[in-house]
Amino acid sequence: MNKIDVVVIGIGPAGAMTLLRLAELGIGAIGIDSKSEIAEKLCTGIIGWECSQKYPPDSEDVHYVSNSATVVSPVGFKLKIKSSIPQAVVLDRVSYIKSIAAKAQLLGSKILLDNNVVSVSVKDTGVEIITDKGESFISKIVVIATGFHSPLLKDLSIIKKDVRQEYMVASQAIVRVNDIEGIQVYLGKQNVPGSFAWLVPTHEQNALIGMFTRSRLQGHMNKLITELSKDGIVDTVIKSHSQWGIPAAPIGRTFSDRLLVVGDAAGLVKPTTGGGIYYSFISGEIAAEVICDAIESDSFSYKTLRSYQTKWKTVLNNEIQIGLNARKLLESFSDDQIEVLISHLSKSDFLNDLTNSSVMSFDWHGRVISHFLRNPSLWKLMNSFGPIAQTVLSLVRQKI
Ligand SMILES: Cc1cc2nc3c(=O)[nH]c(=O)nc-3n(C[C@H](O)[C@H](O)[C@H](O)COP(=O)(O)OP(=O)(O)OC[C@H]3O[C@@H](n4cnc5c(N)ncnc54)[C@H](O)[C@@H]3O)c2cc1C
Repeated sequence: MNKIDVVVIGIGPAGAMTLLRLAELGIGAIGIDSKSEIAEKLCTGIIGWECSQKYPPDSEDVHYVSNSATVVSPVGFKLKIKSSIPQAVVLDRVSYIKSIAAKAQLLGSKILLDNNVVSVSVKDTGVEIITDKGESFISKIVVIATGFHSPLLKDLSIIKKDVRQEYMVASQAIVRVNDIEGIQVYLGKQNVPGSFAWLVPTHEQNALIGMFTRSRLQGHMNKLITELSKDGIVDTVIKSHSQWGIPAAPIGRTFSDRLLVVGDAAGLVKPTTGGGIYYSFISGEIAAEVICDAIESDSFSYKTLRSYQTKWKTVLNNEIQIGLNARKLLESFSDDQIEVLISHLSKSDFLNDLTNSSVMSFDWHGRVISHFLRNPSLWKLMNSFGPIAQTVLSLVRQKI
Protein backbone atom coordinates (compact mmCIF):
# COMPACT_ATOMS: atom_id res chain seq x y z
CA MET A 1 0.00 0.00 0.00
CA ASN A 2 1.30 3.48 -0.96
CA LYS A 3 1.44 5.97 1.91
CA ILE A 4 0.54 9.61 1.23
CA ASP A 5 -0.86 12.51 3.28
CA VAL A 6 -3.99 13.15 1.19
CA VAL A 7 -5.91 11.26 -1.50
CA VAL A 8 -8.28 13.35 -3.63
CA ILE A 9 -10.85 11.20 -5.43
CA GLY A 10 -11.97 12.90 -8.66
CA ILE A 11 -10.04 15.49 -10.68
CA GLY A 12 -12.72 17.87 -11.93
CA PRO A 13 -12.65 21.56 -10.93
CA ALA A 14 -13.04 20.73 -7.21
CA GLY A 15 -10.40 17.99 -7.10
CA ALA A 16 -7.92 19.89 -9.29
CA MET A 17 -8.18 23.03 -7.14
CA THR A 18 -7.82 20.99 -3.93
CA LEU A 19 -4.67 19.38 -5.34
CA LEU A 20 -3.23 22.73 -6.43
CA ARG A 21 -3.81 24.42 -3.08
CA LEU A 22 -2.47 21.37 -1.19
CA ALA A 23 0.66 21.43 -3.36
CA GLU A 24 1.08 25.18 -2.74
CA LEU A 25 0.87 24.45 0.99
CA GLY A 26 3.54 21.76 0.63
CA ILE A 27 1.26 18.82 1.41
CA GLY A 28 1.79 15.52 -0.41
CA ALA A 29 -1.32 14.46 -2.30
CA ILE A 30 -2.48 12.22 -5.10
CA GLY A 31 -5.53 12.83 -7.29
CA ILE A 32 -7.23 9.74 -8.71
CA ASP A 33 -9.77 9.84 -11.54
CA SER A 34 -11.67 7.06 -13.25
CA LYS A 35 -11.46 8.80 -16.63
CA SER A 36 -8.48 8.79 -18.95
CA GLU A 37 -8.85 12.52 -19.62
CA ILE A 38 -9.04 15.12 -16.87
CA ALA A 39 -12.27 17.18 -16.59
CA GLU A 40 -13.98 15.54 -19.59
CA LYS A 41 -17.61 16.18 -18.61
CA LEU A 42 -20.80 17.77 -19.93
CA CYS A 43 -20.39 21.49 -19.17
CA THR A 44 -20.87 24.82 -20.96
CA GLY A 45 -17.66 26.33 -19.64
CA ILE A 46 -18.93 29.71 -18.46
CA ILE A 47 -17.33 31.27 -15.41
CA GLY A 48 -17.98 34.66 -13.88
CA TRP A 49 -15.54 37.54 -14.24
CA GLU A 50 -14.46 37.43 -10.59
CA CYS A 51 -13.70 33.70 -10.89
CA SER A 52 -11.64 34.37 -14.02
CA GLN A 53 -9.63 37.04 -12.18
CA LYS A 54 -9.04 34.89 -9.11
CA TYR A 55 -8.17 31.75 -11.07
CA PRO A 56 -7.00 33.12 -14.43
CA PRO A 57 -7.35 30.80 -17.41
CA ASP A 58 -4.57 30.64 -20.01
CA SER A 59 -5.49 32.98 -22.87
CA GLU A 60 -5.66 30.10 -25.37
CA ASP A 61 -8.40 28.47 -23.25
CA VAL A 62 -10.67 31.54 -23.46
CA HIS A 63 -13.21 31.63 -26.29
CA TYR A 64 -14.35 35.16 -25.39
CA VAL A 65 -15.31 37.53 -22.60
CA SER A 66 -18.99 38.43 -22.46
CA ASN A 67 -20.76 41.45 -21.03
CA SER A 68 -24.22 40.73 -22.40
CA ALA A 69 -26.95 38.15 -22.84
CA THR A 70 -30.25 38.19 -24.69
CA VAL A 71 -33.24 36.87 -22.79
CA VAL A 72 -35.92 35.45 -25.10
CA SER A 73 -39.45 35.41 -23.65
CA PRO A 74 -41.89 32.51 -24.17
CA VAL A 75 -43.46 34.30 -27.18
CA GLY A 76 -40.08 35.28 -28.61
CA PHE A 77 -39.69 38.86 -27.37
CA LYS A 78 -35.98 39.64 -26.99
CA LEU A 79 -34.57 41.62 -24.09
CA LYS A 80 -30.86 42.37 -24.33
CA ILE A 81 -29.08 42.76 -21.01
CA LYS A 82 -25.79 44.54 -21.40
CA SER A 83 -23.27 45.70 -18.86
CA SER A 84 -20.42 48.15 -19.30
CA ILE A 85 -18.32 45.76 -17.19
CA PRO A 86 -17.19 42.25 -18.31
CA GLN A 87 -19.45 39.67 -16.67
CA ALA A 88 -18.49 36.20 -17.83
CA VAL A 89 -15.82 34.23 -19.63
CA VAL A 90 -16.70 31.42 -22.04
CA LEU A 91 -13.84 28.95 -22.09
CA ASP A 92 -12.63 25.47 -22.94
CA ARG A 93 -13.41 23.82 -19.62
CA VAL A 94 -11.34 20.68 -20.19
CA SER A 95 -8.21 22.63 -21.03
CA TYR A 96 -8.77 25.10 -18.15
CA ILE A 97 -9.08 22.39 -15.49
CA LYS A 98 -6.26 20.35 -17.04
CA SER A 99 -3.94 23.33 -16.67
CA ILE A 100 -4.87 23.68 -12.98
CA ALA A 101 -4.11 19.98 -12.47
CA ALA A 102 -0.83 20.39 -14.39
CA LYS A 103 0.19 23.27 -12.08
CA ALA A 104 -0.55 21.05 -9.07
CA GLN A 105 1.60 18.31 -10.63
CA LEU A 106 4.46 20.74 -11.24
CA LEU A 107 4.34 21.64 -7.54
CA GLY A 108 4.50 17.99 -6.51
CA SER A 109 0.97 16.54 -6.53
CA LYS A 110 0.66 13.12 -8.14
CA ILE A 111 -2.07 12.18 -10.59
CA LEU A 112 -3.44 8.73 -11.37
CA LEU A 113 -5.95 8.44 -14.23
CA ASP A 114 -8.02 5.52 -15.50
CA ASN A 115 -8.52 4.26 -11.95
CA ASN A 116 -11.99 4.07 -10.46
CA VAL A 117 -11.93 4.17 -6.67
CA VAL A 118 -14.05 1.23 -5.56
CA SER A 119 -13.39 1.17 -1.84
CA VAL A 120 -12.70 3.77 0.84
CA SER A 121 -12.33 2.59 4.45
CA VAL A 122 -11.87 5.13 7.19
CA LYS A 123 -9.93 3.60 10.10
CA ASP A 124 -8.45 5.04 13.30
CA THR A 125 -4.98 4.88 11.79
CA GLY A 126 -5.78 6.27 8.33
CA VAL A 127 -7.92 5.92 5.22
CA GLU A 128 -7.50 2.93 2.90
CA ILE A 129 -8.34 3.59 -0.73
CA ILE A 130 -8.49 0.87 -3.39
CA THR A 131 -9.05 1.27 -7.13
CA ASP A 132 -10.49 -1.12 -9.71
CA LYS A 133 -6.97 -1.55 -11.14
CA GLY A 134 -5.72 -2.86 -7.80
CA GLU A 135 -3.86 0.32 -6.78
CA SER A 136 -4.07 0.95 -3.05
CA PHE A 137 -3.22 3.88 -0.82
CA ILE A 138 -3.25 4.76 2.84
CA SER A 139 -3.70 8.44 3.64
CA LYS A 140 -4.29 10.71 6.61
CA ILE A 141 -7.31 12.32 4.94
CA VAL A 142 -9.44 11.62 1.87
CA VAL A 143 -11.22 14.30 -0.17
CA ILE A 144 -14.32 13.21 -2.06
CA ALA A 145 -14.42 15.31 -5.26
CA THR A 146 -16.36 12.79 -7.31
CA GLY A 147 -18.98 15.15 -8.73
CA PHE A 148 -22.70 14.62 -8.97
CA HIS A 149 -24.26 11.47 -7.54
CA SER A 150 -21.32 9.54 -6.18
CA PRO A 151 -22.15 6.14 -4.66
CA LEU A 152 -19.12 6.57 -2.37
CA LEU A 153 -21.09 9.05 -0.24
CA LYS A 154 -23.68 6.43 0.66
CA ASP A 155 -21.01 3.73 1.12
CA LEU A 156 -19.32 6.05 3.62
CA SER A 157 -22.63 6.94 5.35
CA ILE A 158 -22.17 10.64 4.54
CA ILE A 159 -25.60 10.40 2.94
CA LYS A 160 -28.07 7.92 4.43
CA LYS A 161 -28.79 4.93 2.19
CA ASP A 162 -32.55 5.62 2.05
CA VAL A 163 -32.20 9.36 1.27
CA ARG A 164 -32.94 10.29 -2.31
CA GLN A 165 -30.84 13.30 -3.25
CA GLU A 166 -32.67 16.07 -5.09
CA TYR A 167 -31.16 16.97 -8.42
CA MET A 168 -31.78 18.78 -11.68
CA VAL A 169 -31.43 17.22 -15.08
CA ALA A 170 -29.25 19.05 -17.60
CA SER A 171 -29.00 18.30 -21.27
CA GLN A 172 -26.61 19.79 -23.80
CA ALA A 173 -25.74 19.41 -27.50
CA ILE A 174 -23.18 21.00 -29.82
CA VAL A 175 -24.65 22.80 -32.82
CA ARG A 176 -23.43 24.91 -35.71
CA VAL A 177 -25.21 28.26 -35.71
CA ASN A 178 -25.80 31.02 -38.17
CA ASP A 179 -24.91 34.48 -36.91
CA ILE A 180 -26.18 35.02 -33.38
CA GLU A 181 -25.48 37.92 -31.12
CA GLY A 182 -23.79 36.43 -28.05
CA ILE A 183 -25.36 34.31 -25.33
CA GLN A 184 -29.11 33.61 -25.66
CA VAL A 185 -31.31 32.54 -22.73
CA TYR A 186 -34.76 31.05 -23.44
CA LEU A 187 -37.54 31.22 -20.88
CA GLY A 188 -40.97 29.63 -20.83
CA LYS A 189 -42.53 26.31 -19.90
CA GLN A 190 -42.89 25.26 -23.52
CA ASN A 191 -39.10 25.56 -23.86
CA VAL A 192 -38.15 24.08 -20.50
CA PRO A 193 -40.40 23.67 -17.45
CA GLY A 194 -39.62 26.02 -14.54
CA SER A 195 -36.15 26.93 -15.71
CA PHE A 196 -34.29 28.15 -18.78
CA ALA A 197 -32.43 26.98 -21.85
CA TRP A 198 -29.23 28.45 -23.29
CA LEU A 199 -27.46 28.88 -26.59
CA VAL A 200 -23.84 29.81 -26.03
CA PRO A 201 -21.58 30.46 -29.01
CA THR A 202 -18.11 29.04 -28.44
CA HIS A 203 -15.84 29.17 -31.50
CA GLU A 204 -16.01 28.95 -35.32
CA GLN A 205 -19.85 29.12 -35.57
CA ASN A 206 -20.14 26.36 -32.96
CA ALA A 207 -22.44 26.78 -30.00
CA LEU A 208 -23.60 24.79 -26.99
CA ILE A 209 -27.34 24.46 -26.67
CA GLY A 210 -28.67 23.18 -23.38
CA MET A 211 -31.25 23.31 -20.63
CA PHE A 212 -31.70 22.22 -17.03
CA THR A 213 -34.77 21.61 -14.96
CA ARG A 214 -36.09 19.83 -11.90
CA SER A 215 -38.92 18.40 -13.99
CA ARG A 216 -38.36 15.65 -16.50
CA LEU A 217 -37.06 16.58 -19.93
CA GLN A 218 -39.46 14.98 -22.35
CA GLY A 219 -38.39 15.85 -25.85
CA HIS A 220 -37.78 19.49 -24.86
CA MET A 221 -34.26 19.55 -26.33
CA ASN A 222 -35.33 18.18 -29.72
CA LYS A 223 -38.24 20.62 -29.75
CA LEU A 224 -36.03 23.64 -29.02
CA ILE A 225 -33.43 22.60 -31.60
CA THR A 226 -36.19 22.13 -34.20
CA GLU A 227 -37.69 25.55 -33.41
CA LEU A 228 -34.32 27.29 -33.61
CA SER A 229 -33.54 25.48 -36.87
CA LYS A 230 -36.85 26.72 -38.31
CA ASP A 231 -35.92 30.25 -37.21
CA GLY A 232 -32.60 29.92 -39.07
CA ILE A 233 -30.58 30.18 -35.85
CA VAL A 234 -29.35 26.59 -35.63
CA ASP A 235 -27.81 25.25 -38.82
CA THR A 236 -26.83 21.66 -37.97
CA VAL A 237 -26.40 19.45 -34.94
CA ILE A 238 -22.73 18.53 -34.58
CA LYS A 239 -23.08 16.35 -31.49
CA SER A 240 -26.49 15.24 -30.32
CA HIS A 241 -27.53 15.95 -26.78
CA SER A 242 -26.60 13.98 -23.70
CA GLN A 243 -27.69 14.39 -20.10
CA TRP A 244 -26.05 14.72 -16.73
CA GLY A 245 -27.28 15.73 -13.29
CA ILE A 246 -26.73 18.88 -11.29
CA PRO A 247 -27.21 18.74 -7.50
CA ALA A 248 -30.26 20.73 -6.40
CA ALA A 249 -28.93 21.69 -2.95
CA PRO A 250 -25.98 21.10 -0.60
CA ILE A 251 -25.80 17.79 1.26
CA GLY A 252 -26.32 18.02 5.03
CA ARG A 253 -22.80 17.11 6.18
CA THR A 254 -19.66 17.66 4.13
CA PHE A 255 -17.13 16.37 6.67
CA SER A 256 -16.51 13.31 8.75
CA ASP A 257 -13.54 11.66 10.48
CA ARG A 258 -10.58 11.94 8.05
CA LEU A 259 -12.90 12.98 5.21
CA LEU A 260 -14.09 16.11 3.38
CA VAL A 261 -16.54 16.45 0.48
CA VAL A 262 -16.06 19.24 -2.10
CA GLY A 263 -17.70 20.61 -5.27
CA ASP A 264 -20.72 18.91 -6.86
CA ALA A 265 -20.35 15.90 -4.55
CA ALA A 266 -21.14 18.30 -1.69
CA GLY A 267 -24.01 19.82 -3.69
CA LEU A 268 -22.22 23.17 -4.00
CA VAL A 269 -23.58 24.80 -7.16
CA LYS A 270 -25.36 28.06 -7.92
CA PRO A 271 -29.04 27.09 -7.65
CA THR A 272 -29.94 29.78 -10.20
CA THR A 273 -27.84 28.51 -13.12
CA GLY A 274 -26.46 25.16 -11.96
CA GLY A 275 -22.96 26.62 -12.41
CA GLY A 276 -20.53 24.87 -10.10
CA ILE A 277 -17.00 25.62 -11.28
CA TYR A 278 -16.44 28.64 -9.00
CA TYR A 279 -18.00 26.97 -5.95
CA SER A 280 -15.85 23.89 -6.66
CA PHE A 281 -12.73 26.07 -6.61
CA ILE A 282 -13.83 27.84 -3.43
CA SER A 283 -14.67 24.61 -1.58
CA GLY A 284 -11.46 22.94 -2.84
CA GLU A 285 -9.34 25.82 -1.54
CA ILE A 286 -11.08 25.87 1.83
CA ALA A 287 -10.71 22.08 2.12
CA ALA A 288 -6.96 22.28 1.44
CA GLU A 289 -6.49 24.97 4.08
CA VAL A 290 -8.45 22.99 6.70
CA ILE A 291 -6.40 19.87 5.83
CA CYS A 292 -3.20 21.86 6.31
CA ASP A 293 -4.31 22.85 9.83
CA ALA A 294 -5.34 19.25 10.57
CA ILE A 295 -1.95 17.90 9.47
CA GLU A 296 -0.12 20.54 11.50
CA SER A 297 -2.10 19.64 14.62
CA ASP A 298 -2.05 15.91 13.78
CA SER A 299 -5.79 15.82 14.41
CA PHE A 300 -8.16 14.30 11.86
CA SER A 301 -11.42 13.83 13.74
CA TYR A 302 -14.72 15.25 12.52
CA LYS A 303 -14.42 17.83 15.31
CA THR A 304 -11.30 19.29 13.69
CA LEU A 305 -12.63 18.99 10.15
CA ARG A 306 -15.99 20.55 11.01
CA SER A 307 -14.43 23.98 10.40
CA TYR A 308 -14.48 23.16 6.66
CA GLN A 309 -18.28 23.26 6.60
CA THR A 310 -18.39 26.38 8.79
CA LYS A 311 -15.99 28.12 6.40
CA TRP A 312 -17.72 27.25 3.12
CA LYS A 313 -21.07 28.14 4.68
CA THR A 314 -19.76 31.58 5.65
CA VAL A 315 -18.89 32.25 2.01
CA LEU A 316 -21.64 30.40 0.14
CA ASN A 317 -24.64 29.60 2.31
CA ASN A 318 -26.59 32.85 2.10
CA GLU A 319 -25.96 32.97 -1.64
CA ILE A 320 -27.22 29.39 -2.05
CA GLN A 321 -30.33 29.99 0.07
CA ILE A 322 -31.30 33.13 -1.88
CA GLY A 323 -30.66 31.23 -5.12
CA LEU A 324 -32.83 28.28 -4.04
CA ASN A 325 -35.75 30.60 -3.31
CA ALA A 326 -35.23 32.54 -6.53
CA ARG A 327 -35.38 29.26 -8.43
CA LYS A 328 -38.64 28.37 -6.67
CA LEU A 329 -39.98 31.78 -7.68
CA LEU A 330 -39.11 31.21 -11.34
CA GLU A 331 -40.63 27.71 -11.17
CA SER A 332 -43.88 29.26 -9.88
CA PHE A 333 -44.26 31.71 -12.81
CA SER A 334 -46.56 30.92 -15.69
CA ASP A 335 -45.44 31.84 -19.20
CA ASP A 336 -47.87 34.78 -19.19
CA GLN A 337 -46.33 36.08 -15.97
CA ILE A 338 -42.81 35.78 -17.42
CA GLU A 339 -44.05 37.74 -20.43
CA VAL A 340 -45.45 40.50 -18.18
CA LEU A 341 -42.22 40.66 -16.20
CA ILE A 342 -40.00 40.89 -19.28
CA SER A 343 -42.24 43.51 -20.82
CA HIS A 344 -42.08 45.54 -17.58
CA LEU A 345 -38.28 45.28 -17.49
CA SER A 346 -37.95 46.31 -21.12
CA LYS A 347 -39.82 49.55 -20.41
CA SER A 348 -38.10 50.58 -17.19
CA ASP A 349 -34.58 51.88 -16.50
CA PHE A 350 -34.14 49.30 -13.76
CA LEU A 351 -32.11 46.76 -15.78
CA ASN A 352 -29.87 49.37 -17.32
CA ASP A 353 -29.12 50.87 -13.90
CA LEU A 354 -28.56 47.42 -12.37
CA THR A 355 -26.27 46.03 -15.06
CA ASN A 356 -24.05 49.08 -14.95
CA SER A 357 -23.80 49.14 -11.17
CA SER A 358 -21.33 47.30 -8.93
CA VAL A 359 -24.21 45.06 -7.76
CA MET A 360 -24.19 43.23 -11.10
CA SER A 361 -22.23 40.00 -10.85
CA PHE A 362 -22.42 36.69 -12.64
CA ASP A 363 -20.41 35.24 -9.75
CA TRP A 364 -22.73 36.32 -6.94
CA HIS A 365 -26.35 36.09 -8.03
CA GLY A 366 -27.66 36.59 -4.49
CA ARG A 367 -26.94 40.29 -4.44
CA VAL A 368 -28.45 40.76 -7.92
CA ILE A 369 -31.60 38.90 -6.82
CA SER A 370 -31.79 40.95 -3.61
CA HIS A 371 -31.50 44.18 -5.59
CA PHE A 372 -34.18 42.95 -7.99
CA LEU A 373 -36.58 42.10 -5.18
CA ARG A 374 -35.97 45.32 -3.29
CA ASN A 375 -37.28 47.29 -6.26
CA PRO A 376 -40.78 48.42 -5.19
CA SER A 377 -42.43 48.23 -8.63
CA LEU A 378 -41.02 44.75 -9.38
CA TRP A 379 -42.02 43.55 -5.93
CA LYS A 380 -45.56 44.85 -6.46
CA LEU A 381 -45.75 43.30 -9.91
CA MET A 382 -44.62 39.85 -8.74
CA ASN A 383 -46.92 39.99 -5.71
CA SER A 384 -49.81 40.37 -8.13
CA PHE A 385 -48.89 36.97 -9.66
CA GLY A 386 -50.95 35.06 -7.08
CA PRO A 387 -50.56 33.06 -3.87
CA ILE A 388 -47.63 30.81 -4.92
CA ALA A 389 -45.49 33.75 -5.98
CA GLN A 390 -46.51 35.63 -2.80
CA THR A 391 -45.45 32.72 -0.57
CA VAL A 392 -42.10 32.34 -2.30
CA LEU A 393 -41.54 36.10 -2.26
CA SER A 394 -42.06 36.21 1.49
CA LEU A 395 -39.52 33.38 1.87
CA VAL A 396 -36.99 35.21 -0.28
CA ARG A 397 -37.55 38.44 1.65
CA GLN A 398 -36.44 36.70 4.88
CA LYS A 399 -33.05 36.05 3.28
CA ILE A 400 -32.32 39.41 1.65
C1 LIG B 1 -24.89 20.56 -19.06
C2 LIG B 1 -24.10 21.22 -17.97
C3 LIG B 1 -23.56 22.49 -18.18
C4 LIG B 1 -22.83 23.11 -17.16
N1 LIG B 1 -22.29 24.34 -17.41
C5 LIG B 1 -21.59 24.97 -16.44
C6 LIG B 1 -21.02 26.25 -16.68
O1 LIG B 1 -21.11 26.81 -17.76
N2 LIG B 1 -20.36 26.84 -15.66
C7 LIG B 1 -20.21 26.25 -14.43
O2 LIG B 1 -19.62 26.86 -13.53
N3 LIG B 1 -20.72 25.03 -14.20
C8 LIG B 1 -21.40 24.37 -15.17
N4 LIG B 1 -21.90 23.12 -14.93
C9 LIG B 1 -21.64 22.49 -13.63
C10 LIG B 1 -20.19 22.04 -13.55
O3 LIG B 1 -19.88 21.23 -14.65
C11 LIG B 1 -19.95 21.29 -12.25
O4 LIG B 1 -20.48 22.05 -11.18
C12 LIG B 1 -18.47 21.04 -11.99
O5 LIG B 1 -17.90 20.27 -13.01
C13 LIG B 1 -18.30 20.33 -10.65
O6 LIG B 1 -16.96 20.00 -10.48
P1 LIG B 1 -16.54 18.77 -9.57
O7 LIG B 1 -15.07 18.72 -9.62
O8 LIG B 1 -17.22 18.85 -8.27
O9 LIG B 1 -17.17 17.49 -10.30
P2 LIG B 1 -16.90 16.89 -11.75
O10 LIG B 1 -16.51 17.93 -12.70
O11 LIG B 1 -18.09 16.06 -12.06
O12 LIG B 1 -15.64 15.94 -11.53
C14 LIG B 1 -15.74 14.75 -10.77
C15 LIG B 1 -14.65 13.80 -11.22
O13 LIG B 1 -14.65 12.68 -10.34
C16 LIG B 1 -14.40 11.50 -11.09
N5 LIG B 1 -14.91 10.36 -10.31
C17 LIG B 1 -16.19 10.14 -9.92
N6 LIG B 1 -16.25 9.01 -9.18
C18 LIG B 1 -14.98 8.50 -9.12
C19 LIG B 1 -14.40 7.36 -8.51
N7 LIG B 1 -15.12 6.50 -7.79
N8 LIG B 1 -13.08 7.15 -8.68
C20 LIG B 1 -12.32 8.01 -9.39
N9 LIG B 1 -12.81 9.12 -9.99
C21 LIG B 1 -14.12 9.36 -9.85
C22 LIG B 1 -15.13 11.74 -12.40
O14 LIG B 1 -14.57 10.96 -13.43
C23 LIG B 1 -14.90 13.24 -12.62
O15 LIG B 1 -13.77 13.49 -13.41
C24 LIG B 1 -22.63 22.46 -15.92
C25 LIG B 1 -23.16 21.19 -15.71
C26 LIG B 1 -23.88 20.56 -16.72
C27 LIG B 1 -24.43 19.18 -16.48
